[in-house]
This record gives sequence, structure tokens and C-alpha cells, in this order.
Amino acid sequence: MNLIKQAINETYNQGFILSKLGNIVDWARGSSLWPMTFGLACCAVEMMHAASSRYDMDRFGMLFRPSPRQSDVMIVAGTLTNKMAKALREVYDQMPEPRWVVSMGSCANGGGYYHYSYSVVRGCDLIVPVDIYIPGCPPSAESLLYGLLMLQKKIKRKSNYSII
Ligand code: SF4
Repeated sequence: MNLIKQAINETYNQGFILSKLGNIVDWARGSSLWPMTFGLACCAVEMMHAASSRYDMDRFGMLFRPSPRQSDVMIVAGTLTNKMAKALREVYDQMPEPRWVVSMGSCANGGGYYHYSYSVVRGCDLIVPVDIYIPGCPPSAESLLYGLLMLQKKIKRKSNYSII
């Protein structure tokens, strides 16, 4: 055990990091989430706030991308109607693996205010697999940031990430 500690100290002092490659990859993935926006209704306004200078989600390595092919996390923000469901799935299918989905607001989570409407999907998780649900109508920009930070934790925890 002492030998291991000594090796760790020596490599650390010389500027090295010991870890498994998979853990480093997951650390990098979690630290550079590039969201694909899917703004559908009022919740999208709070999502836009999260990217503005006041909340500045860029500082967490999160940059909105205009293309699903450059994105690894989709934020479903707002009311998903039956007509938009197909488009949502198509955009999701164009995102490269691994990919994650954040459901933002009551409407995306379960239909919300329009739960009994004939034209609204009662939860975007009927169309795409959701990793994080953010409650609220609308959730604040801080709530979205909190949810994204929880997603980061989830990704890093998956690989039991640790840097010595
Ligand atoms: Fe609008 Fe509320 Fe639905 Fe968000 S949850 S899209 S704020 S009605």
C-alpha cells in the first residue's frame, strides 16, 4: 500500500495523473456537454436565459450547438405536441452516441397544463429516453443549470470517475 502511495505521490509531483482511460473519457464527456436545444414553448425562454451572461452556462463547458450531429445532450423545453413528436425523435436519432436527454418543465415531463389535451404528448419520455427531469412551470434558469450539473455528476459517477 505504501508503495502505491509513494508511486502516486511521485507521479503527482511530476505533473502526471493516474486513472483509467474510460474514466478520463467520461470525465471529458461530462465536462463538455453540448446541448441540442429543442425549445417548444415558454420553457424555452428560461433555457435561453441559462445561456445568457447572467447565468453563463458556458463556464461549465456547456455550449449550445445548432446541429444534432454536434450535440450530446438534448434539452426538451416546453410542450411536446403529437405533430412535433416525430421531429423530436428524428433529431434525437441524429445525435451521436453517447447522448442524454433533459426534460425541462411540467409539459415536457408529463403534459403539464395540457395533460388532457388531445394534441399533446403526455411526457417526452414516451418518445425519447430521459435522463434528468426538471420540475416547474416554467423551471428557472437556475433549475436548468442544476439539472445539467446533476447530469454531469451522473455521467461521471457511471465510470466511478476519480483523479488521484
Ligand atoms: Fe409553458 Fe409551463 Fe409548459 Fe413550460 S411547463 S412550456 S412554462 S406551460
